[in-house]
Amino acid sequence: MTMTLVEGGPATLEAREVSAWFGDHLVLDRVSLTMPAGRVTALIGPSGCGKSTFLRTLNRMHELVGGAKLAGEVLLDERDVYAPDRRVTDARRHIGMVFQKPNPFPAMSVYDNVLAGLRLTGTRVSRRAKDALVEECLSKAGLWREVSGRLRQPGGALSGGQQQRLCIARALAVRPRVLLMDEPCSALDPTSTRRIEETIAELAAEVTVVIVTHNMQQAARVSHQCAFFLAEQGRPGVIVEHGGTEEMFSRPRDPRTLDYVNGRF
Ligand code: ADP
Ligand code: MG
Repeated sequence: MTMTLVEGGPATLEAREVSAWFGDHLVLDRVSLTMPAGRVTALIGPSGCGKSTFLRTLNRMHELVGGAKLAGEVLLDERDVYAPDRRVTDARRHIGMVFQKPNPFPAMSVYDNVLAGLRLTGTRVSRRAKDALVEECLSKAGLWREVSGRLRQPGGALSGGQQQRLCIARALAVRPRVLLMDEPCSALDPTSTRRIEETIAELAAEVTVVIVTHNMQQAARVSHQCAFFLAEQGRPGVIVEHGGTEEMFSRPRDPRTLDYVNGRF
């Protein structure tokens, strides 16, 4: 049987007063942020201020990796991601994730890597639809031209930058409504980084993007809005300031934001 893939389109993700603890240690204190549909939101701030922890609250990743204890609400188009009747796999299907270190299944073919998420979600697709989906997702990830003749090769045979784009293609194949990216270019060379930035700009029309980055130029290039996270000495992470990217970089309201975007800490 062939099932039509669910077409969602970008959704608005809203965090309301999200707090997170590791044991007794409060690492995020009532963080609220709206990540509008079809826009790119960049999360910036020094290491250890809770950006990754926050990102993982958005798609219930903490439940998978034995992570933080949480409070607050996360809404996907106004529906509670943590609703008791909403399965965790459902949240992750709609809210995809790409990590710092590219993690394709190394022994699995490029082709099967793209489709791997469909197996996990139990979506069944005809052979021809699979071929079309693989081409579509690899094209969107900016990789099709490079790998169209290598679809049967193992994912692990690609370069690091290609592997990361393969992971983006894999994330897109289940048609997520939001894509979370945790420093997706930190492990990559400048050319691959540039390609991924181009991809992100094109993706925003069909998926809401939330990207953590330490690269201020990257944040300025790819995002529509920015949120500046900070955990001051001995305190939990908070959002000091958020707003339109242009404004945040040219006229930040908080002196700590100004120092950070100018590389002063
Ligand atoms: P960032 O991504 O901004 O660098 P993180 O979200 O990784 O920050 O970390 C925020 C805080 O939570 C840090 O103090 C970090 O040490 C702590 N932390 C992160 N992951 C864990 C964990 N699995 N167990 C305990 N503490 C953690
Ligand atoms: Mg991090």
